[in-house]
Amino acid sequence: MGVSQTVIDDSQAQSKIYRQADRRVKEQIQTVSVMLPFMMGSVNCYVVKTDDGFFLIDTGASNGRKEVERKLDDAGCKPGDLKLIILTHGDFDHTGNAAYLRQKFGARIAMHRDDAGMLERGDIFWNRKSGNLLIKALASVLFRFGQAQRCSPDLYLNEGDDLSEHGFDAKVLHILGHSKGSIAVLTAEGALFSGDLLLYKNGPVLNSIMDDRAAAQASFERLKGLNVSTVYPGHGEAFRLL
Ligand SMILES: [Zn+2]
Repeated sequence: MGVSQTVIDDSQAQSKIYRQADRRVKEQIQTVSVMLPFMMGSVNCYVVKTDDGFFLIDTGASNGRKEVERKLDDAGCKPGDLKLIILTHGDFDHTGNAAYLRQKFGARIAMHRDDAGMLERGDIFWNRKSGNLLIKALASVLFRFGQAQRCSPDLYLNEGDDLSEHGFDAKVLHILGHSKGSIAVLTAEGALFSGDLLLYKNGPVLNSIMDDRAAAQASFERLKGLNVSTVYPGHGEAFRLL
């Protein structure tokens, strides 16, 4: 009896290890690139499928709602399947469909506390320094655009948070620079969702629009020391970090 019990325990342990390894292989990432109005280029959001459900990283601007919805529908995401809507920061072009998708899919919105006021007030300067001149020139347009999508997050994410309790084998990194509450998500497989910290221009570079450039540089240096395979930025193509 004792021997047979040991055998059963071993096989259960093996099966658990296999399932964990299998889960990593099954993590699937799909990119939705949404064109922005007013000649502002495009913005990315990412649908990540794990064994436990779907995760959406950023939501695009509200003008791209149909494209984001279609991608979730095509991926097989049904109401109740979307576990978290993770916002890398509070800018309107990343948060524009958060309230709508939360309602449609019964998901929860997660972001860092230090950017929450942007979403709640429709104010991209909330908790930011004086602001970039170009953005200031566009502010009235941007504010109007953001105001329609005001909402509050359901939970706050902090440095080091482990998302596996939600079914996503990934960790949260607080990457100050573009905004005070900017976060990245690093999966166990090394996929890094970097929000607006980095862009690719003949190599990985800091985004030109920064609230705190020194902090951004420090965040960039820190990322270089992590086990990152592919960077999935808020704007532009995915790239390798090193
Ligand atoms: Zn941004």
